[in-house]
This record gives sequence, C-alpha cells and structure tokens, in this order.
Amino acid sequence: MSVYQSPFERLRRTFDEEDLECRHCGYRNTDGDWRVTTSGSRVRYQLVCPACDAVETRELRLGS
Ligand SMILES: [Zn+2]
Repeated sequence: MSVYQSPFERLRRTFDEEDLECRHCGYRNTDGDWRVTTSGSRVRYQLVCPACDAVETRELRLGS
C-alpha cells in the first residue's frame, strides 16, 4: 500500500475537509466535489453549490 500523494491530491483533501458555506445562499457544502483544472503553474478549483448553482472558485499557484 502506497502512502504517496500527489500535490493535487493533497490540495483536494485540504479543500474537502474545509467547512464550505455558500456565500450566496448560506448552504453548507460538506461533501463538495471540487473540479480541478490546471493551466501552467496555476491550479483552479471550482465547486458548484447544489442549492443555488453559485460557483466557488479558488486559484492556487504551484510552487516550483
Ligand atoms: Zn448556494
């Protein structure tokens, strides 16, 4: 069994454990499924609120 985790996976987990409250409707998204897209050295995470369809976006820069 491998304990290896990619940086992406580690970041995902960080977000997964966050308490996410939709800033538009206040819905508490406890099991959000982040979509991950990358472009160059940036990683963009998007989470769609199941209650009001607002999109939460976070962008991270990958260190070298
Ligand atoms: Zn919402």
